[in-house]
Amino acid sequence: MNGKKKILLVEDSRLTAAMVGDFLVKNGFEVEVVPTGEEVVQRIGKGMIPDLILMDIELAGKMDGIETADIISKQQDVPVVFLTANTSKEVIEKIKKVKAYGFVLKDTDRVALLSTIDMAMRLHEASVYAAVFERLFETSVNELYIFDPDSFKLVVVNEAARNNLGYSHLELERMTIFDINPQFNAELLKEIIEELKSGKQERVVFNTLHRRKDGSLYYVESHMQLFEYRRAKYCMVFSIDVTEKKKVEDELEESQKQYIELAQEAPIGILKCDVDGNIVYINKKALEILGSPGVEETQCINLLTFPLLVEAGLSQKLKECMQNNVSRTLEKFYRSKWGKGAWLRIHIKPLLNREGVVKGAQIIMDDITEKKEMERQLYQMSITDPLTSAYNFRYFNKKLEEEILRAQRYGERFSLIMFDIDRFKNFNDSFGHQTGNLVLKAAVDMIKERIRRTDTLARWGGEEFIILLPNTKLEDAVKLAEELRQRLMQLKIGEADSVTASFGVVEYQEGDTLDSIVKRVDDMMYKAKNEGRNCVRY
Ligand code: GH3
Ligand code: MG
Ligand code: MG
Repeated sequence: MNGKKKILLVEDSRLTAAMVGDFLVKNGFEVEVVPTGEEVVQRIGKGMIPDLILMDIELAGKMDGIETADIISKQQDVPVVFLTANTSKEVIEKIKKVKAYGFVLKDTDRVALLSTIDMAMRLHEASVYAAVFERLFETSVNELYIFDPDSFKLVVVNEAARNNLGYSHLELERMTIFDINPQFNAELLKEIIEELKSGKQERVVFNTLHRRKDGSLYYVESHMQLFEYRRAKYCMVFSIDVTEKKKVEDELEESQKQYIELAQEAPIGILKCDVDGNIVYINKKALEILGSPGVEETQCINLLTFPLLVEAGLSQKLKECMQNNVSRTLEKFYRSKWGKGAWLRIHIKPLLNREGVVKGAQIIMDDITEKKEMERQLYQMSITDPLTSAYNFRYFNKKLEEEILRAQRYGERFSLIMFDIDRFKNFNDSFGHQTGNLVLKAAVDMIKERIRRTDTLARWGGEEFIILLPNTKLEDAVKLAEELRQRLMQLKIGEADSVTASFGVVEYQEGDTLDSIVKRVDDMMYKAKNEGRNCVRY
Protein backbone atom coordinates (compact mmCIF):
# COMPACT_ATOMS: atom_id res chain seq x y z
CA MET A 1 0.00 0.00 0.00
CA ASN A 2 1.36 3.32 -0.98
CA GLY A 3 -1.09 5.30 1.10
CA LYS A 4 -2.60 6.97 -1.90
CA LYS A 5 -6.36 6.99 -2.24
CA LYS A 6 -7.53 5.00 -5.19
CA ILE A 7 -10.14 6.38 -7.55
CA LEU A 8 -11.82 4.25 -10.14
CA LEU A 9 -12.68 6.52 -13.03
CA VAL A 10 -15.49 5.14 -15.15
CA GLU A 11 -15.41 7.08 -18.39
CA ASP A 12 -15.87 6.04 -22.01
CA SER A 13 -14.47 9.22 -23.48
CA ARG A 14 -10.73 8.75 -23.74
CA LEU A 15 -10.11 12.44 -23.80
CA THR A 16 -12.08 13.18 -20.63
CA ALA A 17 -10.56 10.13 -18.94
CA ALA A 18 -7.05 11.32 -19.77
CA MET A 19 -7.64 14.87 -18.65
CA VAL A 20 -9.47 14.10 -15.40
CA GLY A 21 -7.16 11.18 -14.67
CA ASP A 22 -4.06 13.31 -15.16
CA PHE A 23 -5.42 15.99 -12.89
CA LEU A 24 -6.24 13.52 -10.15
CA VAL A 25 -2.86 11.81 -10.34
CA LYS A 26 -1.20 15.21 -10.06
CA ASN A 27 -3.25 15.79 -6.92
CA GLY A 28 -1.97 12.65 -5.28
CA PHE A 29 -4.57 10.04 -6.20
CA GLU A 30 -4.06 6.71 -7.80
CA VAL A 31 -6.37 6.42 -10.76
CA GLU A 32 -7.63 3.54 -12.77
CA VAL A 33 -9.81 4.08 -15.79
CA VAL A 34 -12.54 1.70 -16.85
CA PRO A 35 -14.68 2.50 -19.88
CA THR A 36 -17.87 0.49 -19.22
CA GLY A 37 -20.27 -0.18 -16.34
CA GLU A 38 -20.05 -3.93 -17.01
CA GLU A 39 -16.31 -3.87 -16.42
CA VAL A 40 -16.70 -2.00 -13.13
CA VAL A 41 -19.24 -4.48 -11.84
CA GLN A 42 -16.91 -7.28 -12.81
CA ARG A 43 -13.92 -5.73 -11.03
CA ILE A 44 -15.86 -4.99 -7.88
CA GLY A 45 -17.27 -8.50 -7.99
CA LYS A 46 -13.71 -9.83 -7.98
CA GLY A 47 -12.97 -7.93 -4.80
CA MET A 48 -11.54 -4.65 -5.95
CA ILE A 49 -12.33 -1.91 -3.41
CA PRO A 50 -11.49 1.61 -4.60
CA ASP A 51 -11.79 4.48 -2.17
CA LEU A 52 -14.14 6.25 -4.57
CA ILE A 53 -15.75 5.74 -7.95
CA LEU A 54 -15.98 8.73 -10.23
CA MET A 55 -18.70 7.67 -12.61
CA ASP A 56 -19.75 9.06 -15.97
CA ILE A 57 -23.47 8.72 -16.55
CA GLU A 58 -23.50 8.00 -20.27
CA LEU A 59 -21.32 5.02 -20.89
CA ALA A 60 -20.27 2.99 -23.88
CA GLY A 61 -21.74 -0.32 -22.74
CA LYS A 62 -25.33 -1.36 -22.21
CA MET A 63 -25.49 -0.08 -18.65
CA ASP A 64 -25.36 3.58 -17.86
CA GLY A 65 -23.55 5.00 -14.82
CA ILE A 66 -26.61 5.13 -12.61
CA GLU A 67 -27.53 1.50 -13.21
CA THR A 68 -23.93 0.53 -12.58
CA ALA A 69 -23.83 2.47 -9.28
CA ASP A 70 -27.06 0.78 -8.20
CA ILE A 71 -25.63 -2.68 -8.79
CA ILE A 72 -22.32 -1.83 -7.10
CA SER A 73 -24.05 -0.42 -4.03
CA LYS A 74 -25.54 -3.85 -3.46
CA GLN A 75 -22.12 -5.48 -3.60
CA GLN A 76 -19.78 -3.07 -1.86
CA ASP A 77 -19.97 0.06 0.24
CA VAL A 78 -18.00 2.36 -2.06
CA PRO A 79 -18.77 6.07 -2.40
CA VAL A 80 -19.82 7.09 -5.89
CA VAL A 81 -19.57 10.59 -7.31
CA PHE A 82 -21.17 11.17 -10.69
CA LEU A 83 -19.46 13.03 -13.41
CA THR A 84 -22.02 14.34 -15.82
CA ALA A 85 -22.38 16.66 -18.74
CA ASN A 86 -25.94 17.67 -18.06
CA THR A 87 -27.98 18.61 -15.04
CA SER A 88 -31.44 17.97 -16.36
CA LYS A 89 -34.09 17.37 -13.71
CA GLU A 90 -34.49 13.84 -14.97
CA VAL A 91 -30.83 13.01 -14.46
CA ILE A 92 -30.75 14.55 -10.98
CA GLU A 93 -33.82 12.57 -9.97
CA LYS A 94 -32.15 9.41 -11.19
CA ILE A 95 -29.00 10.21 -9.24
CA LYS A 96 -30.98 10.73 -6.06
CA LYS A 97 -32.42 7.23 -6.38
CA VAL A 98 -29.05 5.54 -6.09
CA LYS A 99 -26.76 5.90 -3.12
CA ALA A 100 -24.57 8.71 -4.41
CA TYR A 101 -22.27 11.12 -2.68
CA GLY A 102 -22.80 13.97 -5.13
CA PHE A 103 -22.19 14.90 -8.69
CA VAL A 104 -19.83 17.12 -10.58
CA LEU A 105 -20.32 18.74 -13.96
CA LYS A 106 -17.77 17.71 -16.49
CA ASP A 107 -16.79 21.22 -17.39
CA THR A 108 -16.83 22.53 -13.85
CA ASP A 109 -13.65 23.97 -12.41
CA ARG A 110 -11.13 21.54 -11.04
CA VAL A 111 -11.24 22.85 -7.49
CA ALA A 112 -14.90 21.93 -7.26
CA LEU A 113 -14.04 18.44 -8.50
CA LEU A 114 -11.38 17.99 -5.82
CA SER A 115 -13.54 19.30 -3.02
CA THR A 116 -16.48 17.10 -4.06
CA ILE A 117 -14.23 14.05 -4.06
CA ASP A 118 -12.78 15.02 -0.72
CA MET A 119 -16.20 15.60 0.80
CA ALA A 120 -17.54 12.34 -0.57
CA MET A 121 -14.65 10.41 0.90
CA ARG A 122 -15.02 12.03 4.28
CA LEU A 123 -18.75 11.58 4.33
CA HIS A 124 -18.30 7.94 3.51
CA GLU A 125 -15.71 7.51 6.21
CA ALA A 126 -18.04 9.10 8.74
CA SER A 127 -20.89 6.86 7.73
CA VAL A 128 -18.61 3.84 8.05
CA TYR A 129 -17.69 4.92 11.58
CA ALA A 130 -21.31 5.58 12.41
CA ALA A 131 -22.25 2.13 11.20
CA VAL A 132 -19.46 0.56 13.28
CA PHE A 133 -20.54 2.40 16.41
CA GLU A 134 -24.16 1.58 15.82
CA ARG A 135 -23.20 -2.05 15.51
CA LEU A 136 -21.11 -1.93 18.68
CA PHE A 137 -23.92 -0.26 20.54
CA GLU A 138 -26.51 -2.69 19.33
CA THR A 139 -24.49 -5.86 19.85
CA SER A 140 -22.90 -4.98 23.21
CA VAL A 141 -23.51 -7.71 25.78
CA ASN A 142 -24.10 -5.00 28.38
CA GLU A 143 -27.32 -3.07 28.44
CA LEU A 144 -27.12 0.38 26.86
CA TYR A 145 -29.73 3.07 27.08
CA ILE A 146 -29.74 6.54 25.59
CA PHE A 147 -32.36 8.93 26.88
CA ASP A 148 -33.14 12.61 26.63
CA PRO A 149 -31.97 14.33 29.82
CA ASP A 150 -34.84 16.83 29.67
CA SER A 151 -37.86 14.70 28.83
CA PHE A 152 -36.30 11.42 30.17
CA LYS A 153 -37.69 9.74 27.05
CA LEU A 154 -35.77 6.76 25.81
CA VAL A 155 -34.04 7.42 22.50
CA VAL A 156 -32.27 4.14 21.81
CA VAL A 157 -32.04 0.91 23.76
CA ASN A 158 -29.76 -1.85 22.58
CA GLU A 159 -30.55 -5.47 21.96
CA ALA A 160 -29.16 -6.79 25.25
CA ALA A 161 -31.38 -4.40 27.19
CA ARG A 162 -34.45 -5.10 25.03
CA ASN A 163 -34.00 -8.84 25.49
CA ASN A 164 -33.60 -8.63 29.26
CA LEU A 165 -36.49 -6.21 29.63
CA GLY A 166 -38.77 -7.97 27.18
CA TYR A 167 -39.82 -4.78 25.37
CA SER A 168 -39.78 -4.20 21.62
CA HIS A 169 -38.29 -1.18 19.87
CA LEU A 170 -41.75 0.22 19.34
CA GLU A 171 -42.77 -0.10 22.98
CA LEU A 172 -39.57 1.50 24.18
CA GLU A 173 -40.00 4.48 21.88
CA ARG A 174 -42.98 5.56 23.96
CA MET A 175 -41.31 4.97 27.34
CA THR A 176 -39.16 6.99 29.72
CA ILE A 177 -36.21 5.87 31.83
CA PHE A 178 -38.56 5.81 34.85
CA ASP A 179 -40.53 2.96 33.29
CA ILE A 180 -37.33 0.93 33.35
CA ASN A 181 -35.88 2.05 36.65
CA PRO A 182 -38.40 2.16 39.53
CA GLN A 183 -35.81 3.71 41.83
CA PHE A 184 -35.34 6.81 39.71
CA ASN A 185 -37.45 9.93 40.02
CA ALA A 186 -37.18 13.22 38.17
CA GLU A 187 -35.66 15.03 41.11
CA LEU A 188 -32.95 12.51 41.75
CA LEU A 189 -32.13 12.17 38.09
CA LYS A 190 -31.99 15.93 37.58
CA GLU A 191 -29.51 16.13 40.39
CA ILE A 192 -27.30 13.49 38.84
CA ILE A 193 -27.56 15.09 35.42
CA GLU A 194 -26.62 18.47 36.89
CA GLU A 195 -23.51 16.89 38.34
CA LEU A 196 -22.61 15.55 34.94
CA LYS A 197 -23.46 18.77 33.13
CA SER A 198 -21.37 20.85 35.48
CA GLY A 199 -18.44 18.61 34.65
CA LYS A 200 -17.82 17.86 38.33
CA GLN A 201 -18.06 14.25 37.38
CA GLU A 202 -17.58 12.62 34.04
CA ARG A 203 -19.65 9.63 34.93
CA VAL A 204 -21.78 8.45 37.81
CA VAL A 205 -21.76 4.83 38.88
CA PHE A 206 -24.52 3.40 41.04
CA ASN A 207 -26.24 0.16 41.96
CA THR A 208 -29.92 0.11 41.22
CA LEU A 209 -32.84 -1.94 39.95
CA HIS A 210 -34.50 -2.39 36.56
CA ARG A 211 -38.02 -3.62 35.99
CA ARG A 212 -38.83 -6.00 33.15
CA LYS A 213 -42.03 -5.93 31.13
CA ASP A 214 -43.31 -8.88 33.19
CA GLY A 215 -42.80 -6.84 36.35
CA SER A 216 -39.81 -8.79 37.65
CA LEU A 217 -36.86 -6.82 38.95
CA TYR A 218 -33.14 -7.29 38.51
CA TYR A 219 -30.09 -5.68 40.05
CA VAL A 220 -27.82 -3.61 37.84
CA GLU A 221 -24.63 -1.71 38.19
CA SER A 222 -25.16 1.41 36.05
CA HIS A 223 -22.71 3.92 34.64
CA MET A 224 -24.29 7.13 33.46
CA GLN A 225 -22.67 9.81 31.34
CA LEU A 226 -23.61 12.65 29.06
CA PHE A 227 -22.65 13.10 25.44
CA GLU A 228 -23.42 15.69 22.84
CA TYR A 229 -24.79 15.02 19.43
CA ARG A 230 -25.71 17.85 17.05
CA ARG A 231 -25.65 20.34 19.88
CA ALA A 232 -28.17 18.32 21.86
CA LYS A 233 -27.19 16.55 25.08
CA TYR A 234 -28.02 12.92 25.62
CA CYS A 235 -27.70 10.67 28.60
CA MET A 236 -26.16 7.30 28.10
CA VAL A 237 -26.59 4.56 30.69
CA PHE A 238 -24.49 1.47 30.56
CA SER A 239 -25.89 -1.25 32.84
CA ILE A 240 -24.55 -4.62 33.89
CA ASP A 241 -27.02 -7.16 35.22
CA VAL A 242 -25.54 -8.09 38.60
CA THR A 243 -28.45 -10.19 39.89
CA GLU A 244 -26.36 -13.36 39.97
CA LYS A 245 -23.42 -11.58 41.52
CA LYS A 246 -25.69 -9.97 44.09
CA LYS A 247 -27.28 -13.32 44.87
CA VAL A 248 -23.89 -14.93 45.43
CA GLU A 249 -22.81 -11.98 47.57
CA ASP A 250 -25.99 -12.10 49.62
CA GLU A 251 -25.62 -15.82 50.14
CA LEU A 252 -22.02 -15.39 51.16
CA GLU A 253 -22.91 -12.63 53.56
CA GLU A 254 -25.71 -14.72 55.01
CA SER A 255 -23.53 -17.77 55.46
CA GLN A 256 -20.81 -15.65 57.00
CA LYS A 257 -23.32 -14.20 59.40
CA GLN A 258 -24.51 -17.66 60.34
CA TYR A 259 -20.97 -18.86 60.73
CA ILE A 260 -20.13 -15.97 63.03
CA GLU A 261 -23.28 -16.51 65.07
CA LEU A 262 -22.40 -20.16 65.37
CA ALA A 263 -18.87 -19.33 66.44
CA GLN A 264 -20.19 -16.72 68.88
CA GLU A 265 -22.32 -19.29 70.69
CA ALA A 266 -19.92 -22.22 70.44
CA PRO A 267 -19.14 -23.97 73.74
CA ILE A 268 -15.44 -23.68 73.01
CA GLY A 269 -13.35 -20.54 72.98
CA ILE A 270 -12.45 -19.28 69.53
CA LEU A 271 -10.22 -16.38 68.79
CA LYS A 272 -8.23 -15.08 65.89
CA CYS A 273 -5.19 -12.92 65.95
CA ASP A 274 -3.06 -11.18 63.35
CA VAL A 275 0.65 -11.81 62.81
CA ASP A 276 1.53 -9.46 65.63
CA GLY A 277 -0.69 -11.37 68.02
CA ASN A 278 -3.39 -8.70 68.21
CA ILE A 279 -6.75 -10.27 68.77
CA VAL A 280 -9.06 -9.56 65.85
CA TYR A 281 -11.92 -11.89 66.76
CA ILE A 282 -13.04 -13.45 70.01
CA ASN A 283 -16.19 -15.40 70.77
CA LYS A 284 -18.22 -15.42 73.98
CA LYS A 285 -16.64 -18.51 75.45
CA ALA A 286 -13.08 -17.31 74.86
CA LEU A 287 -14.07 -14.04 76.42
CA GLU A 288 -15.42 -15.89 79.42
CA ILE A 289 -12.22 -17.89 79.71
CA LEU A 290 -9.76 -15.07 79.21
CA GLY A 291 -11.68 -12.02 80.17
CA SER A 292 -13.84 -10.49 82.76
CA PRO A 293 -17.55 -11.22 82.54
CA GLY A 294 -18.35 -7.51 82.50
CA VAL A 295 -16.18 -6.63 79.52
CA GLU A 296 -17.95 -6.15 76.20
CA GLU A 297 -16.42 -8.01 73.31
CA THR A 298 -15.60 -4.86 71.34
CA GLN A 299 -13.83 -3.45 74.33
CA CYS A 300 -12.18 -6.76 74.82
CA ILE A 301 -10.74 -6.83 71.36
CA ASN A 302 -8.92 -3.62 72.16
CA LEU A 303 -8.09 -4.84 75.58
CA LEU A 304 -6.92 -8.30 74.80
CA THR A 305 -3.93 -7.66 72.67
CA PHE A 306 -0.63 -9.40 72.70
CA PRO A 307 0.17 -8.73 76.36
CA LEU A 308 -2.79 -10.84 77.35
CA LEU A 309 -1.64 -13.69 75.21
CA VAL A 310 1.78 -13.22 76.78
CA GLU A 311 0.16 -13.45 80.17
CA ALA A 312 -1.66 -16.57 79.11
CA GLY A 313 1.75 -17.95 78.22
CA LEU A 314 0.73 -18.31 74.61
CA SER A 315 2.97 -15.77 72.96
CA GLN A 316 5.97 -18.03 72.46
CA LYS A 317 3.97 -20.95 71.11
CA LEU A 318 1.95 -18.60 68.95
CA LYS A 319 5.05 -17.06 67.44
CA GLU A 320 6.53 -20.47 66.85
CA CYS A 321 3.40 -21.74 65.11
CA MET A 322 3.15 -18.68 62.90
CA GLN A 323 6.86 -18.61 62.06
CA ASN A 324 7.02 -22.28 61.15
CA ASN A 325 3.46 -22.51 59.82
CA VAL A 326 2.63 -25.49 62.03
CA SER A 327 -0.35 -26.29 64.26
CA ARG A 328 0.09 -27.14 67.93
CA THR A 329 -2.08 -28.42 70.74
CA LEU A 330 -1.15 -27.80 74.34
CA GLU A 331 -2.70 -28.03 77.78
CA LYS A 332 -2.22 -25.15 80.13
CA PHE A 333 -3.47 -23.84 83.41
CA TYR A 334 -4.46 -20.22 82.96
CA ARG A 335 -5.37 -17.75 85.63
CA SER A 336 -6.80 -14.54 84.20
CA LYS A 337 -6.28 -11.05 85.56
CA TRP A 338 -9.71 -11.34 87.03
CA GLY A 339 -8.75 -14.32 89.13
CA LYS A 340 -10.56 -17.11 87.36
CA GLY A 341 -8.38 -20.14 86.94
CA ALA A 342 -8.93 -22.81 84.35
CA TRP A 343 -7.24 -25.71 82.68
CA LEU A 344 -7.29 -25.11 78.94
CA ARG A 345 -6.65 -27.29 75.96
CA ILE A 346 -5.40 -24.87 73.35
CA HIS A 347 -5.14 -25.56 69.65
CA ILE A 348 -3.18 -23.04 67.61
CA LYS A 349 -3.46 -23.09 63.84
CA PRO A 350 -1.79 -20.56 61.54
CA LEU A 351 -4.07 -18.82 59.06
CA LEU A 352 -2.78 -18.24 55.56
CA ASN A 353 -3.71 -15.71 52.93
CA ARG A 354 -4.27 -16.70 49.29
CA GLU A 355 -0.57 -16.58 48.57
CA GLY A 356 0.01 -19.07 51.37
CA VAL A 357 1.67 -16.53 53.65
CA VAL A 358 0.81 -16.65 57.35
CA LYS A 359 -1.46 -13.71 58.16
CA GLY A 360 -2.42 -14.66 61.68
CA ALA A 361 -3.61 -17.59 63.74
CA GLN A 362 -6.75 -19.22 64.99
CA ILE A 363 -6.75 -20.26 68.61
CA ILE A 364 -9.32 -22.68 69.88
CA MET A 365 -9.49 -23.16 73.62
CA ASP A 366 -11.45 -25.74 75.48
CA ASP A 367 -11.96 -25.42 79.22
CA ILE A 368 -10.91 -28.84 80.47
CA THR A 369 -10.84 -27.98 84.17
CA GLU A 370 -13.58 -30.49 85.02
CA LYS A 371 -11.99 -33.18 82.95
CA LYS A 372 -8.64 -32.48 84.56
CA GLU A 373 -10.20 -32.63 88.03
CA MET A 374 -11.88 -35.93 87.17
CA GLU A 375 -8.64 -37.28 85.83
CA ARG A 376 -6.91 -36.21 89.01
CA GLN A 377 -9.57 -37.87 91.16
CA LEU A 378 -9.44 -41.05 89.12
CA TYR A 379 -5.69 -41.16 89.39
CA GLN A 380 -5.88 -40.50 93.12
CA MET A 381 -8.37 -43.32 93.50
CA SER A 382 -6.12 -45.63 91.54
CA ILE A 383 -3.20 -45.07 93.90
CA THR A 384 -4.90 -44.80 97.28
CA ASP A 385 -6.79 -46.96 99.70
CA PRO A 386 -10.41 -45.79 99.92
CA LEU A 387 -10.81 -46.26 103.68
CA THR A 388 -7.74 -44.46 104.97
CA SER A 389 -6.54 -42.46 101.94
CA ALA A 390 -3.08 -43.87 102.47
CA TYR A 391 -1.39 -45.02 99.27
CA ASN A 392 -2.14 -48.55 98.15
CA PHE A 393 0.10 -51.55 97.81
CA ARG A 394 0.59 -51.12 94.04
CA TYR A 395 1.61 -47.47 94.26
CA PHE A 396 3.92 -48.19 97.13
CA ASN A 397 5.71 -50.92 95.21
CA LYS A 398 6.27 -48.53 92.30
CA LYS A 399 7.70 -45.91 94.62
CA LEU A 400 9.89 -48.46 96.33
CA GLU A 401 11.25 -49.71 93.02
CA GLU A 402 12.14 -46.17 92.02
CA GLU A 403 13.84 -45.61 95.34
CA ILE A 404 15.87 -48.80 95.00
CA LEU A 405 17.03 -47.62 91.55
CA ARG A 406 18.01 -44.27 92.98
CA ALA A 407 19.92 -45.96 95.76
CA GLN A 408 21.71 -48.23 93.29
CA ARG A 409 22.57 -45.38 90.94
CA TYR A 410 23.34 -42.53 93.26
CA GLY A 411 24.10 -44.34 96.47
CA GLU A 412 21.22 -42.64 98.26
CA ARG A 413 20.14 -44.15 101.57
CA PHE A 414 16.58 -44.87 102.47
CA SER A 415 14.69 -46.76 105.14
CA LEU A 416 11.39 -48.61 105.57
CA ILE A 417 9.08 -48.81 108.55
CA MET A 418 6.42 -51.49 108.74
CA PHE A 419 3.91 -51.73 111.54
CA ASP A 420 0.91 -53.87 112.38
CA ILE A 421 -1.71 -53.00 114.98
CA ASP A 422 -1.64 -55.33 117.96
CA ARG A 423 -4.55 -57.61 118.69
CA PHE A 424 -6.79 -55.69 116.45
CA LYS A 425 -9.15 -58.60 116.15
CA ASN A 426 -9.90 -58.25 119.81
CA PHE A 427 -10.32 -54.51 119.47
CA ASN A 428 -12.93 -54.99 116.75
CA ASP A 429 -14.67 -57.59 118.86
CA SER A 430 -14.84 -55.19 121.80
CA PHE A 431 -15.67 -51.88 120.15
CA GLY A 432 -17.09 -52.83 116.79
CA HIS A 433 -15.71 -52.89 113.26
CA GLN A 434 -16.78 -49.27 112.60
CA THR A 435 -14.71 -48.02 115.52
CA GLY A 436 -11.84 -50.13 114.22
CA ASN A 437 -12.16 -48.34 110.91
CA LEU A 438 -12.02 -44.97 112.64
CA VAL A 439 -8.86 -46.05 114.41
CA LEU A 440 -7.21 -46.98 111.11
CA LYS A 441 -8.18 -43.60 109.62
CA ALA A 442 -7.01 -41.66 112.63
CA ALA A 443 -3.71 -43.54 112.65
CA VAL A 444 -3.11 -42.71 109.00
CA ASP A 445 -4.01 -39.05 109.55
CA MET A 446 -1.71 -38.80 112.46
CA ILE A 447 1.21 -40.39 110.60
CA LYS A 448 0.67 -38.34 107.47
CA GLU A 449 0.74 -35.26 109.61
CA ARG A 450 4.05 -36.28 111.13
CA ILE A 451 6.06 -37.59 108.17
CA ARG A 452 7.62 -35.56 105.34
CA ARG A 453 5.94 -34.88 102.07
CA THR A 454 8.59 -36.91 100.36
CA ASP A 455 7.80 -39.95 102.52
CA THR A 456 5.23 -42.46 101.34
CA LEU A 457 2.74 -44.09 103.71
CA ALA A 458 0.84 -47.06 102.32
CA ARG A 459 -1.66 -49.56 103.61
CA TRP A 460 0.07 -52.87 103.14
CA GLY A 461 -2.74 -55.07 104.32
CA GLY A 462 -5.74 -54.93 106.73
CA GLU A 463 -4.17 -53.28 109.74
CA GLU A 464 -0.66 -53.36 108.45
CA PHE A 465 1.13 -50.27 107.10
CA ILE A 466 4.46 -49.45 105.50
CA ILE A 467 6.37 -46.18 105.23
CA LEU A 468 9.07 -45.37 102.70
CA LEU A 469 11.54 -42.79 103.96
CA PRO A 470 13.89 -41.50 101.27
CA ASN A 471 17.16 -39.93 102.31
CA THR A 472 16.83 -41.41 105.78
CA LYS A 473 19.29 -43.61 107.60
CA LEU A 474 18.28 -46.43 109.95
CA GLU A 475 18.97 -44.46 113.09
CA ASP A 476 16.58 -41.66 112.13
CA ALA A 477 13.96 -44.10 110.90
CA VAL A 478 14.09 -45.93 114.25
CA LYS A 479 13.62 -42.64 116.08
CA LEU A 480 10.59 -41.86 113.92
CA ALA A 481 9.13 -45.35 114.48
CA GLU A 482 9.53 -44.95 118.19
CA GLU A 483 7.78 -41.59 118.08
CA LEU A 484 4.93 -42.98 115.98
CA ARG A 485 4.54 -45.91 118.39
CA GLN A 486 4.07 -43.52 121.27
CA ARG A 487 1.74 -41.20 119.40
CA LEU A 488 -0.41 -44.16 118.37
CA MET A 489 -0.89 -45.12 121.99
CA GLN A 490 -2.24 -41.66 122.66
CA LEU A 491 -4.89 -41.86 119.87
CA LYS A 492 -8.32 -42.19 121.45
CA ILE A 493 -11.53 -42.83 119.55
CA GLY A 494 -14.53 -42.12 121.71
CA GLU A 495 -14.88 -44.51 124.64
CA ALA A 496 -12.70 -47.17 123.04
CA ASP A 497 -9.32 -48.13 124.38
CA SER A 498 -6.31 -46.88 122.49
CA VAL A 499 -4.32 -49.27 120.31
CA THR A 500 -0.69 -50.20 120.06
CA ALA A 501 1.37 -51.50 117.18
CA SER A 502 4.53 -53.44 116.57
CA PHE A 503 7.17 -51.79 114.36
CA GLY A 504 9.94 -53.16 112.18
CA VAL A 505 12.59 -50.84 110.69
CA VAL A 506 15.28 -51.51 108.04
CA GLU A 507 17.63 -49.48 105.88
CA TYR A 508 18.43 -50.29 102.28
CA GLN A 509 21.53 -52.38 101.88
CA GLU A 510 23.53 -52.87 98.76
CA GLY A 511 22.15 -55.72 96.70
CA ASP A 512 18.64 -55.40 98.16
CA THR A 513 15.73 -56.14 95.86
CA LEU A 514 12.16 -55.15 96.44
CA ASP A 515 11.37 -58.60 97.78
CA SER A 516 14.45 -58.85 99.95
CA ILE A 517 14.02 -55.49 101.66
CA VAL A 518 10.29 -56.06 102.22
CA LYS A 519 11.01 -59.46 103.67
CA ARG A 520 13.58 -57.97 106.04
CA VAL A 521 11.23 -55.30 107.34
CA ASP A 522 8.43 -57.84 107.66
CA ASP A 523 10.77 -60.06 109.67
CA MET A 524 11.64 -57.15 111.94
CA MET A 525 7.98 -56.38 112.49
CA TYR A 526 7.32 -60.03 113.46
CA LYS A 527 10.29 -59.89 115.73
CA ALA A 528 8.58 -56.98 117.52
CA LYS A 529 5.36 -59.02 117.73
CA ASN A 530 7.21 -61.99 119.10
CA GLU A 531 9.13 -59.93 121.58
CA GLY A 532 6.04 -58.60 123.34
CA ARG A 533 4.35 -56.23 120.84
CA ASN A 534 4.12 -52.41 121.15
CA CYS A 535 7.80 -52.07 120.43
CA VAL A 536 10.24 -51.22 117.63
CA ARG A 537 12.74 -53.77 116.22
CA TYR A 538 15.43 -53.05 113.60
P1 GH3 B 1 -1.64 -59.31 116.11
O1 GH3 B 1 -1.23 -58.52 117.30
O2 GH3 B 1 -0.95 -60.67 116.10
O3 GH3 B 1 -1.41 -58.65 114.87
O4 GH3 B 1 -3.13 -59.65 116.29
P2 GH3 B 1 -4.28 -59.20 115.32
O5 GH3 B 1 -5.60 -59.56 115.88
O6 GH3 B 1 -4.13 -57.76 115.00
O7 GH3 B 1 -3.94 -60.03 114.08
P3 GH3 B 1 -4.81 -60.86 113.07
O8 GH3 B 1 -4.01 -60.98 111.82
O9 GH3 B 1 -5.21 -62.14 113.74
O10 GH3 B 1 -6.10 -60.07 112.80
C1 GH3 B 1 -6.11 -58.84 112.13
C2 GH3 B 1 -7.38 -58.18 112.38
O11 GH3 B 1 -7.44 -56.88 111.86
C3 GH3 B 1 -8.53 -58.94 111.75
C4 GH3 B 1 -9.47 -57.88 111.27
O12 GH3 B 1 -10.68 -57.91 111.97
C5 GH3 B 1 -8.76 -56.59 111.54
N1 GH3 B 1 -8.85 -55.76 110.41
C6 GH3 B 1 -8.18 -55.90 109.22
N2 GH3 B 1 -8.61 -54.95 108.39
C7 GH3 B 1 -9.52 -54.17 108.99
C8 GH3 B 1 -10.29 -53.06 108.65
O13 GH3 B 1 -10.24 -52.56 107.54
N3 GH3 B 1 -11.13 -52.51 109.58
C9 GH3 B 1 -11.23 -53.03 110.81
N4 GH3 B 1 -12.05 -52.49 111.67
N5 GH3 B 1 -10.54 -54.11 111.15
C10 GH3 B 1 -9.67 -54.67 110.30
MG1 MG C 1 -2.46 -57.15 113.96
MG1 MG D 1 -1.99 -58.33 110.62
